[in-house]
Amino acid sequence: MPHPTDALLNTNANLIKRSLASVWHPCTQMKHHEVFPLVPIASAGGVWLSDVEGKRYLDAVSSWWVNLFGHANPRINAALKDQLDRLPHTMLAGFTHEPAVQLAERLSKLTGLGHTFFASDGASAVEIALKMSFHYWRNVGELGKTKFVSLEGSYHGETLGALSVTDVAVFRDAYAPLLNNNLRVPFPAGTKEIGGDVAEYPCCAECADIAADQLEALLKSHSSEIAAFIVEPLVQGAAGMRMYHPAYLRRAREVCAQYNVHLIADEIMTGFGRTGTMFAWEQVSTLPEMRPDFMCLSKGITGGYLPLSCVLTTTNVYRAFYDDSSARGFLHSHSYTGSALACRAALATLDIFIDDGIIDDNRAKAERFKSIADILSRHQRVTNFRHLGMIWAFDIKDTPDNFARRMYAAALGHGLLIRPIGNTIYFMPPYIISDEEFATLVHQTITALEEVLS
Ligand SMILES: *Cc1c(COP(=O)(O)O)cnc(C)c1O
Repeated sequence: MPHPTDALLNTNANLIKRSLASVWHPCTQMKHHEVFPLVPIASAGGVWLSDVEGKRYLDAVSSWWVNLFGHANPRINAALKDQLDRLPHTMLAGFTHEPAVQLAERLSKLTGLGHTFFASDGASAVEIALKMSFHYWRNVGELGKTKFVSLEGSYHGETLGALSVTDVAVFRDAYAPLLNNNLRVPFPAGTKEIGGDVAEYPCCAECADIAADQLEALLKSHSSEIAAFIVEPLVQGAAGMRMYHPAYLRRAREVCAQYNVHLIADEIMTGFGRTGTMFAWEQVSTLPEMRPDFMCLSKGITGGYLPLSCVLTTTNVYRAFYDDSSARGFLHSHSYTGSALACRAALATLDIFIDDGIIDDNRAKAERFKSIADILSRHQRVTNFRHLGMIWAFDIKDTPDNFARRMYAAALGHGLLIRPIGNTIYFMPPYIISDEEFATLVHQTITALEEVLS
């Protein structure tokens, strides 16, 4: 059987033309593709994506923050090939299988949260956490708790429930009339004078305290209506890699407990080593009483191979659903919930973390990358240079119109996949990126930046 890409004339132009005629691409105004390039990818290996004619792009955003150990990773490939011949998929209602069980066991050991509910993608995990929180309160007789609180600038996905706790205008505004009226509290931003610039970073412990007071005031007056506070720990991704102080989350955990409001840690982006620890929450606290009530995981969970997500929760929440009555159970489901193939990719991903000592290795890598990135942090148009774990971000001053799209296109011209957010450029590469590849990333970014700014 011919490979799909061999079926017709094997050129970039041909694949682009067919794609624009048939595929409605995500997060895209399709008309912009009259001017901006669509990139036809034929293969990938390590940090590199290759188009149909062999031009290579360094994947500096891990293909939307999912890839951890490179494309076509030999160990994940081998695990998937083995799983494919045993059991690709079976339903998880009334049935179970080794990959799902092992994954739930290992995740609960890592997080201290003993019950894992599987789903397919990040947004569905967020929907589940919101529904579970609401249903928990209903099951314990607190019928008035129907609202959720999130931070200004929050991003929790784009289905209607997830969007109702999201505060990023480009995703939200068109659908505002469809969304529940949830509550927002201020982001713990710090403003600090650094070399004459007023910088948003780093957020200081005092700024964290001021924002936590505002959360506390809201919970104090409205806790009878509020089911949960949902938050991206340590860094807001889609809002532009906005980093903040862990002291905020320690206070948030305490006030949520004090006012009987669940805390949902959305670690969909931050989980699996991205912020320098396996889960960002470890930088908040490792104490059992400080755990979140729910943790949402997805993105890196399968190493960037297959859609999979899950919500982990406590025995306390689990017990509130455990009853003779069906209606008190959590009857939510997705067709591909806990896919055996996806769970097996996740197990292979966890194995790599252990076998290769990835968390320590990343720390050493980030330390070495400091001097490589130095040239960027000192660039005269760069401000708010920030770094956490395997995330680097910085803002560009006095940007021209449509900076993000122009920078994206210019970078592609220099063999880089980056996707700026507004005037923020960020790097979130696969962890296997080498020193040499990181240097290429920095230098080509500067070349593209000069081109766009000139
Ligand atoms: C990406 C993301 C989501 C949504 O995940 P999808 O798989 O894209 O639906 C939710 N929360 C956070 C923090 C994310 O970064």
